[in-house]
Amino acid sequence: MRIERLNVGWFTAPGGIFRRGDDLDHAVRFPVPAYVIETATERILVDTGLNPEAIADPGAYYDRPETFAMFALEQEQSVAEQVDVATLTKVVLTHLHWDHVGGLQLIPASAPVVVQRSEWQAGQDDAAARRNSFIPRDYAEDGREVILIDGDFDLLGDGSIELLLTPGHTPGHQSVRIGDLVLGGDVTHYASGLDDHRFPVFADDHERQGRSADRLRAMRDAGLDVVPGHDPEILRPGPVVARSTKLQLPGRSDPA
Ligand SMILES: [Zn+2]
Repeated sequence: MRIERLNVGWFTAPGGIFRRGDDLDHAVRFPVPAYVIETATERILVDTGLNPEAIADPGAYYDRPETFAMFALEQEQSVAEQVDVATLTKVVLTHLHWDHVGGLQLIPASAPVVVQRSEWQAGQDDAAARRNSFIPRDYAEDGREVILIDGDFDLLGDGSIELLLTPGHTPGHQSVRIGDLVLGGDVTHYASGLDDHRFPVFADDHERQGRSADRLRAMRDAGLDVVPGHDPEILRPGPVVARSTKLQLPGRSDPA
């Protein structure tokens, strides 16, 4: 099992939007990560990063000038420039925000996507999609198999990779546990969010997000390594190993 973090873009925006209480006049440059999990038989992509066609002028590309008025996007390399996307066996989406699903169209449609049913349904519902700033253009049906799951899910059937329903940031947000490592997604943008609950000012449901953060905090306090969604201090590209303990895989006998 190998896990690698990719940088698949940056967004720069007022810091106070993404951590309540921070200065709205101070811009912060947030990294956009994606992850590749390699097993003996699988090559799984977790999230897909920014859509390269949207970088220069996202408001115009998506026809959403109001959504992107306060954002500047950058991308050094798209996901397809960093991974041989033809070899991917699955794509796991933590959620449907544009910085997570924007690269999906770069992945051959032969790779199924795995997403929570509640997230996908919100993405197909006009009102819910608009409320959550989802942009359906990035995840439009293209013949790809969409595997809809309901709640926590043993992805490979051997306990090694578990998808965790962690809603609140969006209706059906999910995190990914690989042994002692938890890719938290956007449950918290910053690592500190597990403790201080200073979430972004927007959310589908801040109360549910708080409960999801408490769930991940309990996992962290039990010794797992929980990775935040967009923390500029933490998310550097490269191989990822759990800091806390060594990665124990496969997980059937894992006491966690
Ligand atoms: Zn998000």
